[in-house]
Amino acid sequence: MRGLDPRTLAEVVGPAHVLTDPDLTARYLTDWTRRRTGSADAVVRPRTTADVVEVLRACAEAGTAVVTQGGNTGLVGGSVPEGAAGPTILMSTERMTDIGEVDTVEMCVGVQAGATVAAIAASATAAGAHFGVDLASRDSATAGGIVATNAGGVHVVRHGNTRAQLLGIEAVLADGGVLRRWSPLRKDNVGYDLPGLLAGSEGTLAVITAVLFALVDPPGPTAVAVIGAEDPGTVFAVVAALRRAGLVIEAAELMTRAGVALVVDAGARPALRTAPRYQLLVEAAGADPAQRLAAVLADLGVDDAVVDDGPARAFWALRERHTEAIAAASETVPVKLDVGIRRRDLATFLAELDELAAAAPYPCRPVVFGHAADGNLHVNLLDVPLSEQAALARQVLDSVVARGGSVSAEHGVGRDKRDWLALARDGADVEAMRAIKRAWDPENRMNPGVLFPP
Ligand SMILES: Cc1cc2nc3c(=O)[nH]c(=O)nc-3n(C[C@H](O)[C@H](O)[C@H](O)COP(=O)(O)OP(=O)(O)OC[C@H]3O[C@@H](n4cnc5c(N)ncnc54)[C@H](O)[C@@H]3O)c2cc1C
Repeated sequence: MRGLDPRTLAEVVGPAHVLTDPDLTARYLTDWTRRRTGSADAVVRPRTTADVVEVLRACAEAGTAVVTQGGNTGLVGGSVPEGAAGPTILMSTERMTDIGEVDTVEMCVGVQAGATVAAIAASATAAGAHFGVDLASRDSATAGGIVATNAGGVHVVRHGNTRAQLLGIEAVLADGGVLRRWSPLRKDNVGYDLPGLLAGSEGTLAVITAVLFALVDPPGPTAVAVIGAEDPGTVFAVVAALRRAGLVIEAAELMTRAGVALVVDAGARPALRTAPRYQLLVEAAGADPAQRLAAVLADLGVDDAVVDDGPARAFWALRERHTEAIAAASETVPVKLDVGIRRRDLATFLAELDELAAAAPYPCRPVVFGHAADGNLHVNLLDVPLSEQAALARQVLDSVVARGGSVSAEHGVGRDKRDWLALARDGADVEAMRAIKRAWDPENRMNPGVLFPP
């Protein structure tokens, strides 16, 4: 290995957890989308924070870069060391899976960085509490990963994003120092919000080793409706009417005819007999939710709808199987964009996207879905020749930015979106972020190449 002797790492984590054999390292080096493959001198799998400290000290001495990886479900190419310019290790948190006892008085739980979202949620539920973050990658996505990307997911409309669930954090800095803010206090305004800064830092500032998450009360009985609509803005009318009726909105998702057709082709059961232009999935909680949800829809004059008691997994499968169905159906690796759009612009943006795809002089099938109530759309463009993808993505993002939208609503920047940083943030803003990066990681060894254009 260049830079760092593998025996130094093996002394820290044990030889079984320093992988250099390409057969063993391969699965860590390609990302979920299969668009990005990197190389590393070793994959290192620490078990404890003390291990991470020792590994980072050794990396600091040897000038070795560190790419941290959790569940490797990130969708912006940030979790693999593609194009590593110098000695690099990949630090996997997959052995750091401890989950502490759920504190039902302070309503929080402390977990190691590699604990999965599903495992944290199961622990919370077993203790009579609820974890406010949920996303379709829950079985693999980790605590460290959702904090590092400030993941959103399906319950942002109810509980906010991951940063909003963050009470405390433990992280190891580039020089091996440990930063620990670990208090269940809901109000603690002493200085800069460093846990909040690490939320969305994408491995560029420190290795997150443990997280103290706030928990919420369980939602109580829920009902889920799938609603056919010709206008995507229907979702806002439905959400507002349900809230006025005293129901609590747990999720409000948008699907299109093309996307539902793909997941049905892949084996999911359709919810509606019709094939409307849009399908909205709305989950609401409260007393007698199914009856009240149906009554509100009837009052609104919505007749193309079905309602089921929660968790209504068959309805949710329609929405959650989109990412995989899209990956399987596209002739080329799909263009994947994750944009934030103001509510008032939702319909016009979607119409412009259809026009853009129709006008393209090459194959281009748009499939859009997303967290509609948050104005967050996952724009997928299928079958597009690789040589055309960058220019097409830029056209779509120009349309987003022209409407005051965001080029990355919840997936982060990674490598995929770093060239668009200047589209989204002005010069002073980017320079302030670069100054933070220089202060925390003066040698640019923490996930180099992510977030900032080289
Ligand atoms: C089917 C599917 C559905 C998805 N749905 C959603 C969704 O609804 N909402 C959403 O926001 N995202 C979604 N994602 C994207 C992805 O699951 C999230 O970005 C998730 O937060 C990544 O977690 P991870 O543990 O897999 O992180 P990884 O992919 O391993 O890493 C992601 C980034 O975080 C950094 N990182 C990871 N762990 C640490 C750590 N301990 N310390 C410092 N940096 C770290 C990495 O360096 C990298 O930059 C989805 C992905 C898939 C495949």
